Amino acid sequence: MRGMNVLKIGVGQIGFRAFSLGLALSFAASAAGGTELPDAPAPVSHPPAQDVQARGQAILRQLIEVNRYWLLVPLEAVTNYAYVFHLRQGEQGNPDSGQYPVRVVEPAKASHPRRQGVTYYSVLQCLAKDPTCAQVRVVTEKNGRITLELAVAPPLRGACGNGVKGSWVGYFSFGGEEAQLVIDAGRMVPLKSVVLVATTPVRIEETFSDYAEVTPGHYAPLSVTVKRAAEKSVQFDWKFKLHDGGLWLFDQGRYRDQKVAWLDQVVVNRPLSELPDEPSPAPRKSKSASPRTTPQYQTFETNGVEVSYAGVSVAYAQAIARTIAVARSIAAEQFGFDMPEVITITVTADADREVQLFNDGEDHFVLDVSSEAGLERPARTGTFHIYGLCHEVGHLAMYRLIKDCDWMKNDAKEAWAHYLGSRLTDMVYVKCGPEIWPDHYDYRADGMQRLEKSLAQDSNTNSFNQAVRAWKALVEIVGDKGTAPLFAAWAKARIDPLDPGTAIRPTLSARPEAERLAAWWYESEPALIQELGKSDFPVETIEASALAGRPVELALDDGQPAGKSSIAGSGHAVRFEANGTNCFLTEVRMFGSRYGLPEPPKENFHVWLCDKGFKPIADFPFPYSSFPYAGEGEGKWVTLKVPPTRVPPEFVICVCFNPTATKGIYANYDKEAGGHSFVALPGREDAPFKKGDWLIRACLDQPRTQR
Ligand SMILES: [Zn+2]
Repeated sequence: MRGMNVLKIGVGQIGFRAFSLGLALSFAASAAGGTELPDAPAPVSHPPAQDVQARGQAILRQLIEVNRYWLLVPLEAVTNYAYVFHLRQGEQGNPDSGQYPVRVVEPAKASHPRRQGVTYYSVLQCLAKDPTCAQVRVVTEKNGRITLELAVAPPLRGACGNGVKGSWVGYFSFGGEEAQLVIDAGRMVPLKSVVLVATTPVRIEETFSDYAEVTPGHYAPLSVTVKRAAEKSVQFDWKFKLHDGGLWLFDQGRYRDQKVAWLDQVVVNRPLSELPDEPSPAPRKSKSASPRTTPQYQTFETNGVEVSYAGVSVAYAQAIARTIAVARSIAAEQFGFDMPEVITITVTADADREVQLFNDGEDHFVLDVSSEAGLERPARTGTFHIYGLCHEVGHLAMYRLIKDCDWMKNDAKEAWAHYLGSRLTDMVYVKCGPEIWPDHYDYRADGMQRLEKSLAQDSNTNSFNQAVRAWKALVEIVGDKGTAPLFAAWAKARIDPLDPGTAIRPTLSARPEAERLAAWWYESEPALIQELGKSDFPVETIEASALAGRPVELALDDGQPAGKSSIAGSGHAVRFEANGTNCFLTEVRMFGSRYGLPEPPKENFHVWLCDKGFKPIADFPFPYSSFPYAGEGEGKWVTLKVPPTRVPPEFVICVCFNPTATKGIYANYDKEAGGHSFVALPGREDAPFKKGDWLIRACLDQPRTQR
């Protein structure tokens, strides 16, 4: 599930974490997987590419027009609506464990999931926003069907799942650069689409049927199936309904032969006061806190470990407790890490659960298995439980010292837990031997031996292994006891996520091994530091004189400051939609005030233009003095002019001040959050800002003569 706040890893799956889905692969390689569409013969002639693109674009525009009421926005007559979303999360005995009302007061501005009643964004929705994101390569027409083969750039970012917000039953996201569409040439409605996920045999296949006429000449499908075809296929069968005023809305979804999601209490066009209130989302429950089963927990305690267990025998509870206790004391004594007084762990064996093990970053672990047999040796279960527990102890060793390690790649955090966990596994064996586990086995194979083997098999191209090498090399330089003080020094240094090296280098040169550490950092920095991940959207600037001079200010706030906030370690971001495809950002306006020392610091803050995925397109630095000093007083509007820069159809403005105790800028926000404001840094995970909308606006202008 996305957005889990816990630090989580599947036990024993460490080796797979590093293989993320790359997106850069040629069509030829993708198609080698064998994508076949019915009635899609090779074209008989080969018209010039630009003719194909022109014809394809004309077809796409017609397709989007006919399907606009389900792909873009509901009919204008629909001004608001509300519904109750139901999600079946548990087994049949507990059929309806999640439901919440959703109100949509501005359909055109609502997010896809809320507008549609289901999380569904794929190639058609992407094309509807901006058909020019596709290069049409082949157009074929046969038996009343048109087939388009498309290259999508920047790559499509899709997501599908039974759910609107918070939790989903069945969810996947994907990136794809190639797609195929089969269109009914008579009505101009899609029948089928396929998205190819580069470098993998994964395909997203959608079919559309039961078309209803929304208004004359405009259609919407009442049945949609979405299938992620891969080794383990996932399929959603969705039904939609046309409501009053022509509102197309999710009705129900089936997944794994069960109805898992449905909508009811749909109301359309009511006075706002009559719409049900939408509660703010409740804190996410971890799986083990789910009420669907109430296992009876017993407890077992030993040297600084407390095990609550259900569904497993006391022998395994003791083994788990002893493993953690020994690993904990080695981490404290041999490595000098600050370990919690007591580590608690909740162990649950339940037929309904999949194997998982994670920690809370402080002192608590959660271990789920489907049955006690799932705790047996890796040769039987494929799960490295002893290593897994040591791995979690490794995480605690780091997280307890470096609370704010956003600047570090996720791979690097996992690599550290993998390295220390592997070392601890070996050391636990030395102390306790095979008898520690009820299912006696030689787990030395699961420690450094496994780590070294996977390093030897990789020619230094895998980013996870690169980070493992980096940590291993660091410990080889500073010694087992040298890492904890270094981590502590990093925690103390003010690390700017945009430039972590500047703060980290002095902590290395302060050590006796300075020279070797300097070389180590030079080599290891790329493996450890979270890069900002530049957008694929090209930077394009234009002379101000070439603009029409009719700037449009995009304002998503109500203009009234209701509160203010300064965010250390992150930034203030707002997501906008451009009013056209040919727009240039000319200025950013922001309501705020400078605090701290009256004398402005001689440094810049940053305004970033990012794509909708928060990846930076351009960085505009401004001196801190751009904001007048106000102390704790009132803020004001400040206009920040930028070189006119082309924006994508959806873009994010992100402002980062890197505040400290002596300098910073308060950003004001209005009284009600509209869902467009975020706490985010470019290229990093973002979190919605829920107190209000940042008073941050973007001004766009268009070139004088349309291209
Ligand atoms: Zn981990």
